[in-house]
Amino acid sequence: MARDGRNGGGHPWGKRSRTVGKGLGARVAGFLQDWSLPRQFAGQDVQSTAARSSASERLRPRLEQADRVGTSVCPFCAVGCGQLIYAKNGRPIHVEGDPRSPVNAGTLCPKGAGTLGMLLSPERITKVLYRAPRSRDWEVRPLDWAMERIAQLTRQARDETFAETLPDGRIVNHTVGIGSLGGATMDNEENYLIKKLFGGGLGMLNIENQARI
Ligand code: SF4
Repeated sequence: MARDGRNGGGHPWGKRSRTVGKGLGARVAGFLQDWSLPRQFAGQDVQSTAARSSASERLRPRLEQADRVGTSVCPFCAVGCGQLIYAKNGRPIHVEGDPRSPVNAGTLCPKGAGTLGMLLSPERITKVLYRAPRSRDWEVRPLDWAMERIAQLTRQARDETFAETLPDGRIVNHTVGIGSLGGATMDNEENYLIKKLFGGGLGMLNIENQARI
């Protein structure tokens, strides 16, 4: 039908125009067929204004399968959004924002909403990999071995670069030979301990952290 009215009224909605052109019985039948409310009164949710179909009837909340939920902090950036981790049989099945978090109030940006992909990625590295100096190959090593080596090298670097005084004689007791750069998910307490251990204990001056929570 043309929109200029040359063919019976010119209503831009062709469907409605066809209904207008029918008798009362056809109009009532069309009304009952098109409008969701009569269908809901016929046995579906009368409280809802949304249409429900047999397909939507079979849909289930994806969190219904979870047998456990825990809290976490998004690992990606310094905003530190709170997360809820849903799991089934000890394996994460869904991640969403924690509505109790004052930081994100239940929301997550697209990156944080993709946390599950990072957790379950088959390419995720879950073992300690070590590449020896001048080697081109990575070796799998135990975590205890790696922690011990990090501690030994930290102590060695600190001892080799520690300065008790400056050239003019001022006492400083510090090292600028090593430093610490923290990640996004460290909280106040962890950063406090880092500052105490690395600053007060080892004498590091260069301590920085991405986290601002
Ligand atoms: S959800 Fe987005 S904004 Fe929030 S911490 Fe993660 S990456 Fe940052």
